[in-house]
Amino acid sequence: MDGTYPATGLRVISLLPAMRRTSPMEAFWITGILTFLLGASIGSFLNVVIYRLPQGESLVSPPSHCYSCGARLTFIDLIPVFSYLILRGRCRHCGARFSARYMVVEAVTGVLAVVCWQMHGFTPYAAGLFAACAALLVTFFVDMEHMIIPDQCSVAVALFGIGVNIYHLWTQGLDQALAFTQQIGPDVLTIYLPHSIVGLLMGGGVFLFIGWLFETLLRKPALGMGDVKLAGAMGAVLGPGYALFSYFLLSILIGAAVSILLLALRIKQRGDYIPFGPMMALAGIVMLLYPEPTTLWLLSWYR
Ligand SMILES: [Zn+2]
Repeated sequence: MDGTYPATGLRVISLLPAMRRTSPMEAFWITGILTFLLGASIGSFLNVVIYRLPQGESLVSPPSHCYSCGARLTFIDLIPVFSYLILRGRCRHCGARFSARYMVVEAVTGVLAVVCWQMHGFTPYAAGLFAACAALLVTFFVDMEHMIIPDQCSVAVALFGIGVNIYHLWTQGLDQALAFTQQIGPDVLTIYLPHSIVGLLMGGGVFLFIGWLFETLLRKPALGMGDVKLAGAMGAVLGPGYALFSYFLLSILIGAAVSILLLALRIKQRGDYIPFGPMMALAGIVMLLYPEPTTLWLLSWYR
């Protein structure tokens, strides 16, 4: 039979073994690049969210357009990362400059997608983790620019925590999912409570207390309700244990480091308001992705 196939038929058939011959390394890179592009495309949508959410505009209509000349952006303008590089951050029609933030958000979202895929594969957990990180990324930029933390972002993060809790309840049973044990003296106290709800109340509560303390001592508002809600949402994901406290510690460390840097570079003056939400969002992404290494790193400072 060999050699009797028409030339075209042979070519079609020989494609299949060629695809099967893709080495694991090639498959890894192809999947990685596709995951990055998928993430970056979602990042392109996050840019729209960052721009429109604080203004209360619809996220889907009108379609993306140039803020300067109003020209509708088409496929060629919207290829994540690459369009920005090829067009050098300018509108094709009027030449107006787009902020580098657009490309940064797309690239970071792409990297987040790759990290989530690497750690948890293409699973519902990875998708939820990615969505929570994306919500924190939006929080980072919106709070930096407008000094508000959108409730929608905190709700998205909290829902991820509650969702994981329900999933564990479903797959591991009541004991594994809900047992909240605490050593009190010689006794171990076990309470059956959803981690996410206890974490949510503790996270919000601790921040409410810190805010009250600062306000009483410094006689000026220190933390907004947006910060409290975000802290509660992070508590819902991290649970009431050590992870929540390493999250607070990391937020404060990043906050202190960034504040010192901003003052040293004279970007901010003493007494200027520096929003805390972006630091909380940044610490949140780190803690969502690497809760254990971060906690161990923070603990190593005490040894
Ligand atoms: Zn334009």
